[in-house]
Amino acid sequence: MPATSHSTTSLFAATIAGSLPKPAWLSETNKLWPKWMAEGDDLAQAKLDATLLWIKAQEDAGLGVIGDGEQSRQHFVHGFLEQVNGIDFEHKVTMGIRNNRYDAQVPQVIAPLTLKGRVHGTEARFLRAHTTRKIKFTMPGPMTIIDTVADKFYGDKKTMAFAFADLLNQEARALEAEGVDIIQFDEPAFNVFMADAATWGVEALERATAGLVCTTAVHICYGYGIKANDDWKDTLGDQWRQYEQVFPALAKSSIDQVSLECYHSHVPPELMKLLEGKDVMVGVIDVASDVIETPEQVADTIGKALQYVRKDKLFPCTNCGLAPMSREVAMAKLAALGAGAALARSRYG
Ligand code: ZN
Repeated sequence: MPATSHSTTSLFAATIAGSLPKPAWLSETNKLWPKWMAEGDDLAQAKLDATLLWIKAQEDAGLGVIGDGEQSRQHFVHGFLEQVNGIDFEHKVTMGIRNNRYDAQVPQVIAPLTLKGRVHGTEARFLRAHTTRKIKFTMPGPMTIIDTVADKFYGDKKTMAFAFADLLNQEARALEAEGVDIIQFDEPAFNVFMADAATWGVEALERATAGLVCTTAVHICYGYGIKANDDWKDTLGDQWRQYEQVFPALAKSSIDQVSLECYHSHVPPELMKLLEGKDVMVGVIDVASDVIETPEQVADTIGKALQYVRKDKLFPCTNCGLAPMSREVAMAKLAALGAGAALARSRYG
């Protein structure tokens, strides 16, 4: 791999959307809510061992921005909720999430929400200590959180979303103080509840990022490559225009970067024009297929996106997280992402 600069100031600095598969010694594999394979101190150590493995893999792949691969959380939403007072994890209920696309076992909000303490301090300090490249930390966005937890207390979605936004902001400020360069909120719910997203969803995000001076980002996707999502995508027709409703609101917002799906999706690429002025993390890796992209395919996707996004604003990314995939496939896709970005630098640089 080229040993040139990997800072985000270099062209086409590549990054992952967020999650990576957990090794079989850490948790069950190929599952969205996997059971841990250890407990107590052994589990804490295993999480950090897996994080270190993926930091090295991302560096080896030539990525410019490194994440923790979400190795310390069972699930991208519930990993945050576990550190919040006011949530009953003992009595989970079945709830249809993402507009009833699929059922999930979710905990219930039963009292005012406060943080128990730091949520991701251990992982963030570990990540900062083990790479000199830019680091990104991901958390669920307010609208996606309230779509993944049952409400037995607030009685109003927006009120509960803003209560979560305040907690996210508290954790985000602490992450920034620990040297995190980019804080990203994951909002797949923006592609499901588009009208609410455009009105108060973006406003709740801005509450979560209030006062931050580091780079802020939002990831909006069509979900992991699981059957329920594949079936849903089959109903969306030839043109997926969900982004069209929320991008104008994001363009006007204070959020710096937007992560979107591109490769193998039915998103009309010209919708990227609606994000003028923003950094765009363009999805060049399909997470719904085990077929490994070639560097040429990745560079071609970057080339197509360059019709709509300025090159200094374009960051190649995965379409979504890779958590439910096999470790081998994820490793190969990271390598393709890095090699494709390098090829694009030589083609378009
Ligand atoms: Zn996603």
